[in-house]
Amino acid sequence: MAKKQFKAESKKLLDMMINSIYTNKEIFLRELISNASDALDKLYYNSLSDSDSGLSRDDYKITIVIDKEARTLRISDNGCGMDAKELESNLGTIAKSGSLDFKSAAEKDKGVEIIGQFGVGFYSAFMVSDEVTVESRPHGASEAFRWKSSGADGYTVTPCEKEEAGTTVILKIKDNTENENFDKFLEPYTIKDIVSKYSDYIRYPIIMDMETSKLKEGSEDEYETVTEPTQLNSMVPLWRKNKSEISKEEYDEFYKSKFYDYEEPLLTIHSKTEGQVSYDALLYVPAHASYDYYSKEYEKGLQLYSNGVLIMDKCADLLPDHFSFVKGLVDSADLTLNISRETLQQDHILKIIAKALEKKIKSELEKMLKNKREDYEKFYKAFGLQLKFGIYNGFGMHKDVLKDLVMFYSSSEKKLVTLGEYVSRMKEEQKTIYYACGETTDKIDMLPQADAVKSKGFEVLYCTDDVDEFAIQMLREYDGKTFTNICADKLDLDTEEEKQALEDENKTAADMLEAVKAALDGKVSVVRFTNKLHDHPVCLTSEGMLSLEMEKVLNSMPNGNTAKAELALEINRSHPIAGKLKALFESDKDRLAKYAKILYAEACLISGKSIENPAEFSELVCELM
Ligand code: ADP
Repeated sequence: MAKKQFKAESKKLLDMMINSIYTNKEIFLRELISNASDALDKLYYNSLSDSDSGLSRDDYKITIVIDKEARTLRISDNGCGMDAKELESNLGTIAKSGSLDFKSAAEKDKGVEIIGQFGVGFYSAFMVSDEVTVESRPHGASEAFRWKSSGADGYTVTPCEKEEAGTTVILKIKDNTENENFDKFLEPYTIKDIVSKYSDYIRYPIIMDMETSKLKEGSEDEYETVTEPTQLNSMVPLWRKNKSEISKEEYDEFYKSKFYDYEEPLLTIHSKTEGQVSYDALLYVPAHASYDYYSKEYEKGLQLYSNGVLIMDKCADLLPDHFSFVKGLVDSADLTLNISRETLQQDHILKIIAKALEKKIKSELEKMLKNKREDYEKFYKAFGLQLKFGIYNGFGMHKDVLKDLVMFYSSSEKKLVTLGEYVSRMKEEQKTIYYACGETTDKIDMLPQADAVKSKGFEVLYCTDDVDEFAIQMLREYDGKTFTNICADKLDLDTEEEKQALEDENKTAADMLEAVKAALDGKVSVVRFTNKLHDHPVCLTSEGMLSLEMEKVLNSMPNGNTAKAELALEINRSHPIAGKLKALFESDKDRLAKYAKILYAEACLISGKSIENPAEFSELVCELM
């Protein structure tokens, strides 16, 4: 019998399984049981719409049989079964074409240890077996077929006898090696433990023969060992159990296997709500953003159950966009099975649940911020961007939900701080929340304007994400305090006398400043002296609504390069360069124009704006040197 070959991608995955150095091999059982459970679900759904299998739902079951002698482990279900064609297409190729990409993306960070944490499915059987056989017969079909493979050299599909409809997977368990004990997968107690650990909530009974000791019939103190079919799983979905009965490990394990993550979640929220609408919710905040989180491919949503039966895999309506990173599920008896026939009533129920969940997620995140700062900072690194987008989106509709959750880097604390923390530290004479934008915190820290504000003892928030300034403009104020961009807005740090002196100086030197502006050929709308620049000679300040940073962001977008911030060139009144300019205005106007160009170019460089003509700049500098 000629062997058929696996498709290339499947073969790759298969090789990985066979040669896996992954230590957590026991998850193969979770994968096979979950396939069996899916097959029973499928049978149930099919029997709702078309043919009846003749099987009552009470008969649905998964059976495990161990044969130590033959070294086999059999996992059977009386689910939908597969015909010859399905055996070939389902087991000869990977259904989830994305699973390999998924693996390699994550593997970069975590090494091969994570193999198998993902839904690699059926092939994981090869981690523990030399040979895998699948015998299957769909309900109502007269023929059964056997799929058989001992790994990478291909597989065969042949007719076989099978009394009961459904599927049996037979694993020929590997011999022990120096480093690896495979015998344990033939021990009933090990199998029982693995089932309780990963598959306890499976909604069909998982039955295996187990030895128990029992009182001998007719005796009061004599025991005998009997072997009898034993149900291994409690069948109660995790979220339906009492919180007090669930360990952190169980919550984490459930999350990892259900949502294909290798890392424990940062936050687990389990809530049971009775009232207008009754539901259980089990929500998780991941510890890191998945590789596709910030892409268009990412689909938000929670699993939706009606009384323990899955009715929708990703119900997007249950999560607002700003919390789209939350994974989890909602189970409500108030929902009917057929969610696709969306009645108004259903819609209404979902809205109520969604609203309550948003509130709950917000309050749990605030709790984490308060009690587990380190976790919160980890969370914020992964998903802070999404929160800030959330403030900006919808014209600020959600800003009240989010304003206490966002953080920015603080000039004085040298770490991320919340707006609440900033305001609580504000000095009495400080009227506004200062912030500055730039590529990195280091670069912002070197801005002349930052110096000026810091030297007054005021804290400055450093914004390094493109969305930051847009979000801040949307917020408008926090706790009654407005925001001031130190590179765009009037800083108002001077005393009345200083202000007066500056105004006089600007008036006296008006002609000179006008000449500098003229030399710059429309690049700035005003040139003036300033008090705010300590040791630095010049800076660029934007006038009006559009700041320099926003200009950069808008112009980097496709279709956009028309945004133009209106700029002022500000010259440090106390810097020697001020006197030099005044002198040149009297003696050498040509040279003054050259100085103007150099000073403007310097100001551009400092603020992170590129200079239009670097060659001219370099020539001018050399000439003056
Ligand atoms: P997944 O279950 O994630 O789709 P698997 O590799 O585990 O991927 O399985 C591939 C396919 O094989 C399944 O989608 C299903 O169609 C089929 N299959 C696996 N096990 C069974 C089973 N016990 N009964 C019926 N079909 C099965």
